[in-house]
Amino acid sequence: MGVASLHACERIAPPGHRPTDLMPRVKSVISIGVGGQTRGAWQMPASAMAYSGSTEVRAYSIAYGCAFFIERKFGSPAVYVPPDLDPAGGPRIPFQSMKLHAELAGIGARSFAGGILLHPEFGFMYFASVFSELELPEDRPLAENPCPAPSCVSMLRSSGRTPCMKFCPAQCLSGEVDEQGRQKRMVYDMAACADYTQEYDTVPKMLANAVRDEVRGRGADSLLDPDRRMLWYKVSAGSGAWFAQCFECMRVCPVTLRAPSADPILRGEAARTTAVQREKE
Ligand code: SF4
Ligand code: SF4
Repeated sequence: MGVASLHACERIAPPGHRPTDLMPRVKSVISIGVGGQTRGAWQMPASAMAYSGSTEVRAYSIAYGCAFFIERKFGSPAVYVPPDLDPAGGPRIPFQSMKLHAELAGIGARSFAGGILLHPEFGFMYFASVFSELELPEDRPLAENPCPAPSCVSMLRSSGRTPCMKFCPAQCLSGEVDEQGRQKRMVYDMAACADYTQEYDTVPKMLANAVRDEVRGRGADSLLDPDRRMLWYKVSAGSGAWFAQCFECMRVCPVTLRAPSADPILRGEAARTTAVQREKE
């Protein structure tokens, strides 16, 4: 976790999406990162990962509990920041940018993969935020960006693409590095990525097409098309798989896969080694 500079959040976020727009007396912006998928989950096909891979909801639960903890322990108002979309802004604009909070709090830096935040120790994480009226010391953004990894720099120089750029099915990523191998330019076609990964715009489009179809029977049949019937399952199950259908840029990312504490196997290695040593003693 880290604490972002409130002043910087207020300066960078657009009007309507600043911390004070949600909590006028906010004094601290707390950002919490929860490590991503288990190592086993990265072996799953993308269609299954959307259901079981993400630890996003855990991050939200922890932030929710953190707000309650602050009020109970310190007697100071706190609020869990909804990661949801702002009804006034349409289906792509959130109330607040968790990413901005996390970046300013120093728990992630923007990668070539559409600006997904990566951490040199924990790799890929999900982020949640808490606002509070507690005055807390602020952290600073990370001094070094782990992206691009040295192997990605070599690949970009030799082939023009890093692994995330090469394997992105929407081909929506590109970029350049400077002479030191640091990010110089990152291009992310967000609309192309969103079209590919987020299905919540698909239902109204599909219904509009079905209603518009001049041959009405065909329009109705199209709603029962086997591919489309999955959408009704997701609607009825309230599935989070509406949001993230694609993990391909992270599946091939050396930081996500090999950062020192990137998954529970790596995080548990030290504990297991210590336990074995104790048994020997
Ligand atoms: S989530 Fe998928 S479509 Fe979007 S940038 Fe990553 S690989 Fe490309
Ligand atoms: S694969 Fe990962 S480390 Fe390499 S350029 Fe892409 S996001 Fe950065």
